Amino acid sequence: MNKPMNSAELKAIDGEHHLHPFTDFKDLKERGTRIVTKAENVYIYTDEGQKLLDGMSGLWCCNLGYSQPSIVEAVAKQMAELPYYNNFFQCSHPPAIQLSKELTDLAPAHINNVFFTNSGSEGNDTVIRLVNRYWDLKGQPEKCNIIARKNAYHGSTVAAASLGGMGYMHKQFNTLGNIHHVDQPYWFDEGGNMTPEEFGLKAAKSLEDKILELGPETVGAFIAEPIQGAGGVIIPPSTYWPAVQEILNKYDILFISDEVIFGFGRTGKMFGCDYYGTKPDMINFAKAVTNGYQPLGGVLVGDKVTDVLKTQGGDFNHGFTYSGHPAAAAAALATLKVMRDENIVENVEKELGPYLAEKLAVVAEHPLVGEVRSVGLVGAIELVKDKKTRARWGSDGEAGGACRQASLNNDLVMRATGDIMLVAPPLVITKAQIDELIQKAMKALDEAHEQLKRDFA
Ligand code: PMP
Repeated sequence: MNKPMNSAELKAIDGEHHLHPFTDFKDLKERGTRIVTKAENVYIYTDEGQKLLDGMSGLWCCNLGYSQPSIVEAVAKQMAELPYYNNFFQCSHPPAIQLSKELTDLAPAHINNVFFTNSGSEGNDTVIRLVNRYWDLKGQPEKCNIIARKNAYHGSTVAAASLGGMGYMHKQFNTLGNIHHVDQPYWFDEGGNMTPEEFGLKAAKSLEDKILELGPETVGAFIAEPIQGAGGVIIPPSTYWPAVQEILNKYDILFISDEVIFGFGRTGKMFGCDYYGTKPDMINFAKAVTNGYQPLGGVLVGDKVTDVLKTQGGDFNHGFTYSGHPAAAAAALATLKVMRDENIVENVEKELGPYLAEKLAVVAEHPLVGEVRSVGLVGAIELVKDKKTRARWGSDGEAGGACRQASLNNDLVMRATGDIMLVAPPLVITKAQIDELIQKAMKALDEAHEQLKRDFA
């Protein structure tokens, strides 16, 4: 075995040789990294001995926290029995087969097939391939445009990042030409004097306007998260989803629900579409399906699409070496078993979600906070300078940056999207640990507020 390295050695090598995702490489080399060396339950530990409450479930994936021996055992057992085989060329293996059954049983009744990927990004590439293939086989290849939303995050491959609506990503590569973006239902920032309900309808109308501008006969699909996650936990007003679903039905446009974050219980329902009552033709999932213990994702595909794909057209020329990897599938099966055995989703809906909402209502009183919002175990805290006008401190996420750092200093992982603080703790968190999260967040808000007053004096 390689000689264990001490913290200083690890940091030096990290800065020298490791290019991190979504990171300013120069800045990182200068500032150094926080090296996470172990994790337990809902806590992570760093090389410097800091213990932090993980208010983000890793990257929204470790929904059952970090201490799940049954998943570890299932992966080890599978590795010993069949560490790899693929699902190409008329092959299959028991874990992938069993997982396809369990996932399609969990999905809405009209969804009965799954295509496995290794990540959410690959899932969204797969979505585009499936949408194009479906309309080709239907004899409507001109329905190749796909509509997504501004400020969406759908992954980092070229196709997935094209679906995403983040300008700072688009600046760094050539986006696909058949993808178009419409407004997000972000009432707090963009709603002006409208009621949330009026604004929800306005955001939905921007979808219809775009469909009419492109021509409905050229639009094949609309993709969106139930709640915009990385974009800032943008929870849509109640009017939004019913209006969107009606528009999609009216123009015969496939609906893709990207549930990479919201699948598997985050909202208190199994899928976000169950929470909002939408009827997706495909659901893209990843992350929490294996509790983040193994890379696995996939696209759940509804009967409307598979009725065409499974009856005509020959090969679908798409797939990944590790699609449905046995060890990852075993991790997913073990994860779903824990979710079932411990009534995780129901507990989020009935106990933990309402508890978090109640505690966040107290956070809303803080002078730095303009709004709090949550669904199930995902929440957002909007940081403002002026509660009434919703004016921000600066134009570059200064408040979010200050609060994020203060949060880390207070042993809590929260994420900042601009000036929105995000929390999405593991679904196994206890009420006492939610209290701890809130108490640490309040301390971070106090400290960030003091710092902002100094910085903007
Ligand atoms: N879709 C959504 C909604 C996501 O939040 C993410 C990742 N945060 C992705 C897709 C991409 O998933 P991955 O990082 O596994 O490729």
